[in-house]
Amino acid sequence: MRKIRWLLWIFLLLAGWVVPAAVQAASAMTLVVNGKEVKPDVPPQIINKRTMVPIYFAGEAYGAKVEWDRQTGTVTIDNRAGKVIRMQPGKKTAYVNGKAMTLEVAPMIVKDRAFLPLRQIGEWLGATVGWDAASNTVIINNKKTIAVNGNPLTQAPVYQLPYGHFVKVNDVAKPLGYEVKTEAKKVILEQGAEKYTIGQASAAQSNGYRLIDGTFAVTPEFLSQVIGAKADWNEEKTACTLDKLQYITGISRTDDGISIESEGKMTYSHFTLSNPYRIVIDFNHARLKEGFDAFVTSAKVESVRYSQYSLSPDRVRVVVQLFEPHNYEIIASEGVTKVVLKEAKPTPPPTPAPQPDKPDAAKPFVIVLDPGHGGKDSGAIGTAGNPEKSLVLSIAKATEASLKQHKNFKVVMTRSGDTYPTLQERVQLANNLKADVFLSFHANSATSSANGTETYYRTPQSKEFASIVHKHLIEATEFYNRGLRTANFYVIKNTNMPSALVEVGFLTNAAENKKMLEPEFQKRVGEALAAAIIEYYNKHH
Ligand SMILES: [Zn+2]
Repeated sequence: MRKIRWLLWIFLLLAGWVVPAAVQAASAMTLVVNGKEVKPDVPPQIINKRTMVPIYFAGEAYGAKVEWDRQTGTVTIDNRAGKVIRMQPGKKTAYVNGKAMTLEVAPMIVKDRAFLPLRQIGEWLGATVGWDAASNTVIINNKKTIAVNGNPLTQAPVYQLPYGHFVKVNDVAKPLGYEVKTEAKKVILEQGAEKYTIGQASAAQSNGYRLIDGTFAVTPEFLSQVIGAKADWNEEKTACTLDKLQYITGISRTDDGISIESEGKMTYSHFTLSNPYRIVIDFNHARLKEGFDAFVTSAKVESVRYSQYSLSPDRVRVVVQLFEPHNYEIIASEGVTKVVLKEAKPTPPPTPAPQPDKPDAAKPFVIVLDPGHGGKDSGAIGTAGNPEKSLVLSIAKATEASLKQHKNFKVVMTRSGDTYPTLQERVQLANNLKADVFLSFHANSATSSANGTETYYRTPQSKEFASIVHKHLIEATEFYNRGLRTANFYVIKNTNMPSALVEVGFLTNAAENKKMLEPEFQKRVGEALAAAIIEYYNKHH
């Protein structure tokens, strides 16, 4: 009985006597297959809110083989890629390579043409499908790929229209670090101070951006113009690369390694060097952000160096030097690339070393220099408005430079830029390194008349070291001698090795502050403190 009713229905349709009420007026709907407009005699239709396309025209234009055996009522699609699908109008069961599957919507006949939902055809053809609102166009095209800064976006569709290829703004802008906000007929890309608006009231008419499947889409070329990137297609126009400079904003320590912060997701290559063991990571399309800084020393990480390795192409090199070789893993995600240190690598068999002059010469003398404050913590403020953190960093760097010329010394800074390691971190670093000495750099503040130089120590084992430090320091500053003192400062109380904390002079004393701001003074004091450490070292070696 059902069958008879169906046949009657078909007959009426074929005769053109009736059109289902659900078929909406959609005569303007066009079909674009692989970028070319196809003109089927019966255009795509919206039926029951679904976009339906004529199987024969869409399939053949795409390059599939479509047959309709009117005798048996069977439609066959051979997608020429290993899939043969058989179906019958009005039936929800279809056969893919002989295997039955249930369709959401049965194929239907409209004006003597078999129709299928666009999504279903797309799936069977292995095609990308979409609907462009402004031109009322159904899009079917071969799958194409887009890669952003070297990362292929495997889930991002690329739609081909006669006037260009389109990608969803969301898909490509997010990997570049943009926050994407969609408003009525426009989309806003934001990243820090950068802000772009694409589309206005008449946006959908533009050839650079359109609404596809209700989502803002752009051509990679258009987006590149907007955000200052570069889009390139391969010759066959099957793959596009979109590249934009990414800024590396900082490097910091994690529990199990280091993390490199950036604006978007970075692409990189990496390798290792030995003696000393280093992990070298090259970031592509990358620059160092102005004011970039890093504080990264830990029990495993001896130092981290970074540089703008080249500008053409733009590449940043980060070199992570470890105390001993470790296996490692690099994990890149949006905004951060992590270097995760795994277990230590087995040490290679020792090679016979030349006999050292002194039994101890092979083991370096480890010196931790601790410029006080930093980052959010300015320390005291000088009479010229100058922060303590900058002054002490500058002096400590002079000490470091001087000590580095000594081949038996390993010099480690708790910070080498404007960052704030906590007091606990500073102490932990020195203790983990089993440092031989620890020296903390500060400058004083009190009333405007207070003046002079003082050095602090806390533990009995530190007294000798601190007194040598103070002797050299007072000679260099030529300020009033406030003497060698003891105090419970955290860093000298909790470090396990001989340690001292210097207060070079008073920032709140105009005359002393003026003197301390002189670069020659800073260099002289820094070198004097290095001389103190060398004297202490020579006494014990
Ligand atoms: Zn201080």
